[in-house]
Amino acid sequence: MSADAKLWQDEDGCWHAVHDGDCTREHEGTAYDMVAVIASVNTCMAPMPITRWMLHVYPDGHAGLRGFSW
Ligand SMILES: [Zn+2]
Repeated sequence: MSADAKLWQDEDGCWHAVHDGDCTREHEGTAYDMVAVIASVNTCMAPMPITRWMLHVYPDGHAGLRGFSW
């Protein structure tokens, strides 16, 4: 069960996202831009946008969000 998209925050608070499929865009923004980063991912993934986000803590202790279109 792999995620269709991943969203995380770096040490500076900036948001970054990657998603399945061919994508040449950089999905990233400042700490103020989480909603905009999600919107840009969903624009890319139309007509199957991410509809569900789940908090995930990786073994190294970092946390991020995993997104699913189902
Ligand atoms: Zn994209």
